Amino acid sequence: MRSLVLRSAAILLVLSAAPFAHAAECPGHPDALGTSRTLVVDPTEHPRIGTMQYPETLPLADHEVVLTFDDGPLPKHTKPILDILAAQCIKATFFVVGQMANAYPQELRSIRDAGHTIGTHTQNHPLRMNRMSIEENKAEIDQGIASAAAALGDPTQVAPFLRIPGLLRSSEVEDYLTSKGIQTWSADFPADDWHRISPARVTQLAISRLEAKGRGILLLHDIQARTEKALPNILRELKARGYRIVHVVPATKDLPKTPTAPWQWHLHPVEPVLSAADGMRFRFAPQPLRAAGKTAAMAAVPAMVQSSRKGDISALWWNVHADAGAQDATVALLSSSSAAFQFGEDTPKSPYLKAASALPRE
Ligand SMILES: [Zn+2]
Repeated sequence: MRSLVLRSAAILLVLSAAPFAHAAECPGHPDALGTSRTLVVDPTEHPRIGTMQYPETLPLADHEVVLTFDDGPLPKHTKPILDILAAQCIKATFFVVGQMANAYPQELRSIRDAGHTIGTHTQNHPLRMNRMSIEENKAEIDQGIASAAAALGDPTQVAPFLRIPGLLRSSEVEDYLTSKGIQTWSADFPADDWHRISPARVTQLAISRLEAKGRGILLLHDIQARTEKALPNILRELKARGYRIVHVVPATKDLPKTPTAPWQWHLHPVEPVLSAADGMRFRFAPQPLRAAGKTAAMAAVPAMVQSSRKGDISALWWNVHADAGAQDATVALLSSSSAAFQFGEDTPKSPYLKAASALPRE
């Protein structure tokens, strides 16, 4: 019986040296972890990030980490956390609550003055945004941003980055944020530092979950004593294990985004390749298909495939489906960008279809 083989070849990540790659020097602290580079992102281009909830995440290289702190500012813990970060020359992103910015505007200015990125986390941190009306949600979002802007005295110093409280997302909220040019930040791993666990456990969870994914956005809270206590150990472990800190800032008119390829916005990018064994031939759809805003190349193959699979590989998705008993199965390779597709045969028995946009660009 002939079968369709889906094969995903690992792709070699060739990342160009970032302009900030040598910015790790930390005066007076030769052993500091430092910040290895600054990543400039266009929030509208990749509107939802963080693999806890979304297919895409920040385009980090292996062993790169982005630190994020939610729920502050709260001077009692934010201040020592800023000191710990400063001693290591680390830049992070703070998702601040509007009420807290109103209560502690000077602390928010300290975060800014230390060079960190300031995103927002709504006005009152409601843990029911997935159930609130869109009008209530808009007010929470808008007021949170306005409060942070007022405390900073400059709306341009509030990054168009927002984390939904409790990560209680809804499409309605995400769409509203996207319509305002705001990037929705989930995370790649939490450290459970809002639970009643020991600082040692926070450290262990942060490191073990990072090690499992190899890179990503770490979710922490700068209103927790256990986070403050755990942070020096987390940073020590990151350094010992060869991790590097990346600082994320939004693109502006004067600060262009860091060039990236779509496939880099996935945790484990691979080159998507569809191959058909045993002399099967793809029959390509005559027109590129447009489906759900994606570009697609389609192939009809004999109906060997009875199952459906939607995978998360690079910036591309496979859709494979066939009705039982059908003569042909439809195989679609969808790309979220304007991908070019390459068709060919590496052997007479193994035609292939792949998306060139998944390949590193020169
Ligand atoms: Zn929160």
